[in-house]
Amino acid sequence: MQLLIFGPPGVGKGTLSGMISDKYKIPHVSTGDIFRNEIKSGNSELKDYVEKGLLVPNMVVNKIVEKALREDSFKNGFILDGYPRTLDQAEFLENALWKIKKKIDLVLNLVASEETIVERLTARRNCSKCGAMYNLITMKPKKKDVCDKCGSPLVMRKDDEPETVRKRIQVYGQETSPLVDYYKKKKLLVDVDASKKPKEVFKEAVKIMEERIPKQQ
Ligand SMILES: [Zn+2]
Repeated sequence: MQLLIFGPPGVGKGTLSGMISDKYKIPHVSTGDIFRNEIKSGNSELKDYVEKGLLVPNMVVNKIVEKALREDSFKNGFILDGYPRTLDQAEFLENALWKIKKKIDLVLNLVASEETIVERLTARRNCSKCGAMYNLITMKPKKKDVCDKCGSPLVMRKDDEPETVRKRIQVYGQETSPLVDYYKKKKLLVDVDASKKPKEVFKEAVKIMEERIPKQQ
């Protein structure tokens, strides 16, 4: 089965994808992973863009994704995260899959209110020295604002500050709304309530998947 996962930063895409990946034995891949592998295997054009911090052109991204999708590790399917980002890419993906007799079976669209996401992300803390991660709700340090491992002060990443989080959610919404419409029209996209606990979100996603995707033998 071929799945896409959509959702703003902090909504829990990584967690849900990991759980689905474990249950259905299909890899969870992001464009970041695909890029890293491609660079490792010697793609100097891509390496150049990434090292210079330049935006990788659409055509280059598409070519790399198409090649990756043909790899053996994806033969039973995948959960793709972070791609497509544009309508052009969505159409390209459809065509690339068609060529290998596959298609997108389902798009899971994780939805949570801005307040829920802000609450979650602003609870994250990082150790200023060793980088260990904490969460004031789910993974509290033993001593307030101090790293359990090395005793250094904990800090909030700039990315996790409320104003930045709100901005990131907005940008995400603007970028993604054409894609949400695109997959809605194709009757492939289903909203998943991601404001609940990870286990419950997973349960809902599985229910949707079992309903929507015929068993593959
Ligand atoms: Zn530390």
